[in-house]
Amino acid sequence: AQNERDSLFIVLGFAGKFFQDQLFENSEGKSIGLSYFKERGFNEAIIKKFELGYALDEWDGLLKAAKAKGHTEEMLLKAGLILKNEKNRVYDRFRARVVFPIHNVSGKTIAFGARTLRTDKKEPKYINSPETEVYHKSNVLYGIHQAKQAIRNEDMCYLVEGYTDVISLHLAGVENVVASSGTSLTKEQIQLISRYTKNITVLYDGDSAGIKASFRGINMILEHDLDVHAVVFPEGEDPDSFSKTMSSEAFKTYLKEQAQDFITFKTNILTDGGRDKDPSNKVKVIREVIESIALIPDGIKRSVYIKTCAGLLDIQEQVLITELNKLLIQQQ
Ligand code: ATP
Ligand code: MN
Ligand code: MN
Ligand code: MN
Repeated sequence: AQNERDSLFIVLGFAGKFFQDQLFENSEGKSIGLSYFKERGFNEAIIKKFELGYALDEWDGLLKAAKAKGHTEEMLLKAGLILKNEKNRVYDRFRARVVFPIHNVSGKTIAFGARTLRTDKKEPKYINSPETEVYHKSNVLYGIHQAKQAIRNEDMCYLVEGYTDVISLHLAGVENVVASSGTSLTKEQIQLISRYTKNITVLYDGDSAGIKASFRGINMILEHDLDVHAVVFPEGEDPDSFSKTMSSEAFKTYLKEQAQDFITFKTNILTDGGRDKDPSNKVKVIREVIESIALIPDGIKRSVYIKTCAGLLDIQEQVLITELNKLLIQQQ
């Protein structure tokens, strides 16, 4: 019901404000949370822009404050802010973590992601709100509210993996960026981007998981008839960490100059930057690229990409067209 959704927005808004207050006004929040963000290079302006916060190392920090303001346990539970144990005792979900509020397109807080500050691996690095009546994670892109105008202006959207990647791009002056935040890219997320632009540039982490996710993401994006580019980061770097190794200007130039069309991107990765000249590998690369092209609904685009592929992989266009047509028939 609309009423219940509004009540959820209210309690989530309260929680967001509470976490923000802890970060700036509580001694634990300042000494642990705020210093953590500062160490990561986040200044006060960017912290406020993203409404970052801190959840105290307590079982009922939020619970107590919320109840004192008249919020009910029932609403806190429905909002995913507290949990109930076997003995029916309720306690805060987010504890001793820095907090990243997640907003809907219009800027209302609908959920939270929270990062541990502990370096041992006893607990998950990030935890997130559960699915609620206002938070369906497959429909949500982190940063969309802060990015939508810039995505329209630039007619392009950078897609990153994590919260801190979004924030660091903003710090570098790049505001047309959203994150899928741990979920693999969904149809709904692509449709959300396509309200603002038909061009996506994938900036996934420079590790095998990131490359795998970018291949899958690229195919999903092509299927939805959007154009897609990708940038490779050095092994072990993600957009956040890599941005910290150079000036903002140099980083922006890197993003522009290293953006490759999906065919060049896939080919480079699968041939180790052209170093792998083994013919049987080349066959695999060609098949892999044709499979992506076959997903594109628009026939004109397909034929342009076939041409690119023929040139890049030095193979006759007609051979590619024949193979492509086989795949297209199979898909029907
Ligand atoms: P950091 O720089 O703080 O270590 P990151 O964003 O680089 O974080 P990754 O491990 O690259 O972290 O993960 C990318 C994104 O996936 C995170 O920002 C977060 O949204 C999500 N994520 C990572 N680990 C988990 C986890 N254990 N549970 C749920 N989501 C996670
Ligand atoms: Mn990663
Ligand atoms: Mn990172
Ligand atoms: Mn990362």
